[in-house]
Amino acid sequence: MAWNQTRQIGEIQVTSLTDASFGLDGGAMFGSVPKTLWERVAPADELNRIPLRINPLLIRLGDENVLIETGFWDRGGEKFESIYGLDREETVFRGLDHAGLIPDDIHLVINTHLHFDHAGRNTTALNEPTFPNARYAVQKRELDDARHTHERNRASYVPDTYEPIADAGMFDLIDGEHELRPGVTVLPLPGHNLGQQGVVLRSKGQTLVYVADLVPTLAHAPTPYIMGYDLYPVTTLETRKKYLPQWFEEGALICTPHDPRTAFARLQENPRGGFVAVPDEGQDT
Ligand SMILES: [Zn+2]
Repeated sequence: MAWNQTRQIGEIQVTSLTDASFGLDGGAMFGSVPKTLWERVAPADELNRIPLRINPLLIRLGDENVLIETGFWDRGGEKFESIYGLDREETVFRGLDHAGLIPDDIHLVINTHLHFDHAGRNTTALNEPTFPNARYAVQKRELDDARHTHERNRASYVPDTYEPIADAGMFDLIDGEHELRPGVTVLPLPGHNLGQQGVVLRSKGQTLVYVADLVPTLAHAPTPYIMGYDLYPVTTLETRKKYLPQWFEEGALICTPHDPRTAFARLQENPRGGFVAVPDEGQDT
């Protein structure tokens, strides 16, 4: 079981969570990569969908609990659920419960971006903050873009998942790279859109990176395996070339938001250039 695994990054404890499994068109997920290549690493179902999950991450910092991503929006109705093939057997709430926590115990939520599969559980069915005692950290750019959509990105945003947070004054709007807590830094990772941020944890010489949709699953680690969904694919390429070598050099643990099986991975050099991501066999602590 890949979820609710705990790892220690120096003094920071992290626990892998998952919120839902779903499917998206494999062609859209791999952009310009031909199906003959991607289906070897991500076999498709009869509707050409590949299996995905949304994988939030719980961070324990002394007395503080931090949650990266809140989960997949659950108020789209039956047709929405069937389009995405949603299976909600595992939820972020079950994962927190397993970790001995309830939503009130979360002090800080980090939204990598505001797409409904990542920030969908920011609010409850009553349009109230799901995590009433938390600040919600998002890039200012991302909230601005969510409020000024166009035909290409509009379907990714559900205002009910962020406007109530803004109305309650619970957003911390971040501008660029910023250390939110000692050892917890958010880092702009543009390409999927322009307001996306990843999260870098560094403690006692160890590093973990929550890469957001820069690398949505392990299968996407090869440099040109870029989603058709990305608004700025060449920017994704540049962001990967900037950071993947650095994270590889640091021996960072890598957490992807959508891998269907693996919570923690590491980068390895690909003999043909760039990197591949392999499951990390480290011990659950
Ligand atoms: Zn995503």
